[in-house]
Amino acid sequence: MEARDKEAVWVMMMGWNGLRDRFKGSAIGTFIGDALGRAVEGWPASAIRRSFGILEEMAKGIYTDDTEMMMGIMESLCEAGRFDPGLTARIFLHNFNPTRGYGGRIYGVMDRLHRGIPWNEAGTDSWGNGSAMRIAPIGFFFYDDPVKLREAAIQSSMITHKHPRGIAGAVAQATAVGIATRKGLKGEAIEVEGFIDLIIENVGEIDQEMVRQLERIKEIEGGDLEATIDAIGSHFYCDVSAIGAVPPAIASFLLTGGFKESVVVAVNCGGDTDTLGAMSGAIAGAYYGYSQLPRQWLIPLENEGKGRDYILSLADRLTDCKARNIDQRD
Ligand SMILES: [Mg+2]
Repeated sequence: MEARDKEAVWVMMMGWNGLRDRFKGSAIGTFIGDALGRAVEGWPASAIRRSFGILEEMAKGIYTDDTEMMMGIMESLCEAGRFDPGLTARIFLHNFNPTRGYGGRIYGVMDRLHRGIPWNEAGTDSWGNGSAMRIAPIGFFFYDDPVKLREAAIQSSMITHKHPRGIAGAVAQATAVGIATRKGLKGEAIEVEGFIDLIIENVGEIDQEMVRQLERIKEIEGGDLEATIDAIGSHFYCDVSAIGAVPPAIASFLLTGGFKESVVVAVNCGGDTDTLGAMSGAIAGAYYGYSQLPRQWLIPLENEGKGRDYILSLADRLTDCKARNIDQRD
């Protein structure tokens, strides 16, 4: 029996609730981190510290492009039952709402998609973190299949970000969410070096600089919240680049012991705070599960139209879809 099939048997024996909790946790974890970080997007860590001490209150639960595009990937996976890049590109275009704080280069991509240019020709050579910020659903949906996870992460990045560094960011973040889902389901502890080595294995030859930056997480000593924020902030730029944002988001999860701490550390590193929060929240939510998310952050999340409950319903549908796919395997 292959390792993947053993995994499927194990999940069936344990029931689907654990998986459902992790799918919901990762999707809503993205939303929470995005909304918490939105209030201080672009602020340096020192300015956040001066104004808030440590920022952990969510004044408004409004999401940005990170969550809007994550929802697009969830909708696409629900509709196709697999990753279809053409469909995903069409949904990105359909959902595109310029008031959600998109980066400058996305407007050209949307214009090209609107003019009928195919998904694999419309993107730019961007090395930004934009394809990693939205990737959570690919991480948790393919948590039991690293090959499909990697392939889907690469294709989903190509829609907008074709530079190897941008693609490596998407693969690293998706892999982190996938491992966190698997380990969370089994209640396994996280071991920092092993976690990073698994990510590096999947990022492989795509981009050596991403590998070097991921290796640097191993040098960081955690401590209390303030010390952990300072240590991560002094190692990484925490900016809009993939290499500047993905490693500190992963580090925020690895060097803390709960969902709340993961997201608080990520956002308080400053810089591209909504995306750092979204990515850390995606990994931590996958590991700890929706049932562990703090209530004080769930209540303010916007819920009109495509909001909190809609995202939860998509996570439910993806869990059911996963159950059908596994049941159909020999
Ligand atoms: Mg954003």
